[in-house]
Amino acid sequence: MSELLEEDSPTRTDDGPLVEVNGLKTYYDTGGLFGSNPVKAVDGVDFAIDRGETLGLVGESGSGKTTLGRTLVQLESATEGEVLFDGTDVTTLSGSDLKNWRREAQIVFQDPESSLNHRMTIGEIIREPLDVHGWPNFSVAVNDPDDRSVSVSGDGTRAEPNDAADITVELAGAAPTIAVRDALAMTADSVDVSVSEQSSSVSVSVSVAVSKDQLRRARVRELLETVGLREEHYYRYPHQFSGGQRQRVGIARSLALEPEFVVLDEPVSALDVSVQAKILNLLDDLQSEFGLTYLFIAHDLSVVRHICDRVAVMYLGHIMEIGETEELFQNPENPYTYSLLSAIPEPDPTADRERVTLRGTPPSPRDPPSGCPFSTRCPVKIRPKEFRDVDEHTWESVETLREILREREDREMGVRDHAKALLGLETGFEDFVDVAEEVFTRNGSLDAKGVETAERTDAARIDGALDDVDPVAREPLKEAIELVLADKETQAHELLIETFESDCGEQSPEHHTVSDSGRTSYCHRHRTEFDDTAVAFDDLLSSAE
Ligand code: SF4
Repeated sequence: MSELLEEDSPTRTDDGPLVEVNGLKTYYDTGGLFGSNPVKAVDGVDFAIDRGETLGLVGESGSGKTTLGRTLVQLESATEGEVLFDGTDVTTLSGSDLKNWRREAQIVFQDPESSLNHRMTIGEIIREPLDVHGWPNFSVAVNDPDDRSVSVSGDGTRAEPNDAADITVELAGAAPTIAVRDALAMTADSVDVSVSEQSSSVSVSVSVAVSKDQLRRARVRELLETVGLREEHYYRYPHQFSGGQRQRVGIARSLALEPEFVVLDEPVSALDVSVQAKILNLLDDLQSEFGLTYLFIAHDLSVVRHICDRVAVMYLGHIMEIGETEELFQNPENPYTYSLLSAIPEPDPTADRERVTLRGTPPSPRDPPSGCPFSTRCPVKIRPKEFRDVDEHTWESVETLREILREREDREMGVRDHAKALLGLETGFEDFVDVAEEVFTRNGSLDAKGVETAERTDAARIDGALDDVDPVAREPLKEAIELVLADKETQAHELLIETFESDCGEQSPEHHTVSDSGRTSYCHRHRTEFDDTAVAFDDLLSSAE
């Protein structure tokens, strides 16, 4: 990736946001088949993207990144909230209004292999959006110094006030002056204008000598060149191209209608590393040339660090942290960001951030945890006061047992099978006492005690396993294990929640502003009564040494 540009988008402006997202939710299966919960893919997000900015969107698989991107361009319907594009809430658009708006916002898909129609030529693929939208519509702006009411007829249509008109007619002077927008492959000589003027109105009839078909073909040839392909590629088919070339076709297609905003959904993930840099540089050049605004969805954090102005970190439908890229990478404030970033190799050898391993996988968005969405996996989850000083082994064991019982409630899988899966064990459990021993006994401690499992009663084995946990946590844990053995798993889970839950699992955090540049983080740790994230991770990592 060394060939990549490392600067912020020179196109980012202070002209206010192009896209504003407020309280956006996108749920699936909201019909509630047999009372089931909806899938909360995007669960209440707020952010804005400045004009000309590249906002990165990162997070694990299933975090809701792609659904969020697709909702912004209206390929998915929002369940709640608004997406303001230049001040207009596009979630309320329909019919021709929606179709017209779609020209402004496009998407480039991850997999160039499957996102192109293999029965169409490259030229047809790039041209398709032009045909669908009737491009160009020969919009006409009439500048009349007398400010009369204007009507347009013939081949032209009246341009909308804020749109770049295809044809501009100046009425000052004896004869009208005609100008044609650069994107159209024709000159003013191809346009014939006749004007009929009255005292309070003016009628302009426009006749264009070049066919739309010719202009579309010229536009496709221009787009091929723009993305680094050649004119002769027009009549070839996708299977005749490499992955990188196919992605160039996808980009050309997305640019055909001159959008302002492009969602790039993992645009280089499916490409060889050597090709990735070329496509990223192309995207960067196109942004500079056309003043594009990007939402760049990715899981490769090093790519995001190179090309994005700001980054939003997403987990289970929520934005956990959002802010300026370098600031966020150098000093993550949210525990999820911290964990995610600790997994990438640190280019600075003097940086001492250690790797944090996250327990398990993200919970189902159909049944997210209450409180903070990251609370079932957060390595620095806030503990209730009485357990704040228990050792890491005890706390980790408590969280593992809770996770086993929580998942049990969601699945048909038996608790022993689930425990096996969670602990990465295929064999060896005969009953839940085995699970308890695996969860609570420190590595090798049973061997050290020199005991033979087969010769001991269940009660003795449970006591033996709990020997390794902090005394303050022993009683409730023993009671929970006994409830599971009595087939009362729900009560066992409730007991653990009641005893060990903190604000993290009970209350949704606030979005706290954590830097002068306006970075925000969604975490209780920013409240004054708790240690902040860096201190919490220092304590965690030093206790593991
Ligand atoms: S609110 Fe609690 S669980 Fe969530 S990220 Fe912060 S510390 Fe972790």
